[in-house]
Amino acid sequence: MSPMIDEKVEPMFQEVVRRNPGEVEFHQAVREVLESLGPVLVKYPEFADHKIIERICEPERQIIFRVPWQDDKGEVQINRGFRVQFNSALGPYKGGLRFHPSVYLGIIKFLGFEQIFKNALTGLPIGGGKGGSDFDPKGKSDNEIMHFCQSFMTELYRHIGEYTDVPAGDIGVGGREIGYMFGQYKRITNRYESAVLTGKGLDWGGSLVRPEATGYGATFFVDAMLKARKDTFGGKTCLVSGSGNVAIYTIEKIHELGGKVIACSDSNGVIVHEKGIDLALVQQLKEVERRRIRDYVKYHKDAKYIEKGNIWDIPCQVAMPSATQNEINGKDAENLVKNGCIAVGEGANMPTTPEGVKVFLDSGIAYGPGKAANAGGVATSALEMQQNASRASWTFEYTEDRLRNIMNDIHETCYETALEFGTPGNYVNGANIAGFIKVAKAMVAMGLI
Ligand code: GLU
Repeated sequence: MSPMIDEKVEPMFQEVVRRNPGEVEFHQAVREVLESLGPVLVKYPEFADHKIIERICEPERQIIFRVPWQDDKGEVQINRGFRVQFNSALGPYKGGLRFHPSVYLGIIKFLGFEQIFKNALTGLPIGGGKGGSDFDPKGKSDNEIMHFCQSFMTELYRHIGEYTDVPAGDIGVGGREIGYMFGQYKRITNRYESAVLTGKGLDWGGSLVRPEATGYGATFFVDAMLKARKDTFGGKTCLVSGSGNVAIYTIEKIHELGGKVIACSDSNGVIVHEKGIDLALVQQLKEVERRRIRDYVKYHKDAKYIEKGNIWDIPCQVAMPSATQNEINGKDAENLVKNGCIAVGEGANMPTTPEGVKVFLDSGIAYGPGKAANAGGVATSALEMQQNASRASWTFEYTEDRLRNIMNDIHETCYETALEFGTPGNYVNGANIAGFIKVAKAMVAMGLI
């Protein structure tokens, strides 16, 4: 059931590998999309005539810059900053900033590439982009974070704008970092340009539900996949990897919908709590005190901490990877399916390796790939931009309703598109094809750009 790359598309993929040496995550993300596109070229020959695939794989603009800053000891530190402005056929470039030591151009390009199709699926007018830095926020003081963010924005400001490029958060970048960057943008430009960044604080242009949106949205998407199979979250045992923003609000929504999350994790280890994860404690440890997840067991004697454990070894019915890329490999996917998992919804970007994706697709379980399942975050960013443009603030209920409808629409689009292209139930094909067609049509309409 899992697709093979079409012979017309293979040379295009080889060209991407040749032009972007060593950027393995980018190659992986491109291959995953291109594998779905063979039948699309048959139905829309004009996409081949206009070389849409070749153009879509080449970012419109890539910016790499030096980020010098001073640490608390007075020493000068240098990091590298990136912004990849991938595609603006549907609207201003839109996508988060990731601060993590693993960041290099290949990671930002894979994320920016995914963002093109994800953003198209939301149905909202946003193009695709991504940025970040190899800066490691772990262990840094608040003062150091502020100085880094200010220096980062001192270069980035000239490349972004409400009508140009609108960054937001990702791993390592939350409300605090967006605040420091917005302050610096405002100071340099002397413009209160609210919609230049999303994920802002509520008192200064942010949107209700934006912090919750990726996790809630991913859970709504899994709920829609379950409903399509006449099932629900009720009574299901769930795993949610990670313990950051996406994981926290995924756990919250699963519990609200009647499921039970028995494990979560961070990069050091896994917490297993059969009674159900105590979300208030995870939030206190991770968001307020910025501690490690291992401290959870100090407060719950019946919970277990497994240092360097593998969360995917634990039997579950629903798995929601919400940490980072390639966290589920082929073996993990096999274990999940063997142990009774019936649905996977990706809160993280590309958390499953190609081998793992193949296992999920071949097994026939409900598998929601990140570019569909985690689109709620960026969709709510677009709702934040709408509120900023009209100087309005919507209620929590209204905004959450909009998010739920968007996720249901994305589910339906992917479901129907997979059916139309002869692979029923394959949300990977559905998401890739539907997202691609939307962007491709806009590119054809706009001529050679
Ligand atoms: N970083 C998020 C994502 O991967 C959100 C981006 C945004 O809100 O612009 O989609």
